Amino acid sequence: MEFRNCKECGRVFQSNGYTKICPRCQVDDEKNFVTVKEYIYDNPGVTMPEASQETGVSEDKILRYLREGRLEIIGHSMLLDCERCGKSITTGRFCKACAQEIERGLKGSFERKEKTKEKEKMYIAEMKNKK
Ligand SMILES: [Zn+2]
Ligand SMILES: [Zn+2]
Repeated sequence: MEFRNCKECGRVFQSNGYTKICPRCQVDDEKNFVTVKEYIYDNPGVTMPEASQETGVSEDKILRYLREGRLEIIGHSMLLDCERCGKSITTGRFCKACAQEIERGLKGSFERKEKTKEKEKMYIAEMKNKK
């Protein structure tokens, strides 16, 4: 356990090392999240500024919900970029390909990753030969 200043209200609270806001703000945050989520589902194709204006939840927060993968864009009116390759995504921080790549990288060493790549190349070569 560690003590942190809440990112929202500045109050000191006990954090598990992951949460950046205090329990009280978390409740508000959850309420905001539900409001935004319902609004977006009811109004597919809405833009970020519109959603923010209508719900009273700041664009920063909406963006955070998207980055956390809690909220998904419907109708592709609000687009996020993959933080790794810049490809357009609808939720989270990375595109599927990058997420897989990162997960693989975390699990194995760099060397193992290279080996997997070699294997993939060989597999593709095999496929080509068969045709
Ligand atoms: Zn707070
Ligand atoms: Zn990517």
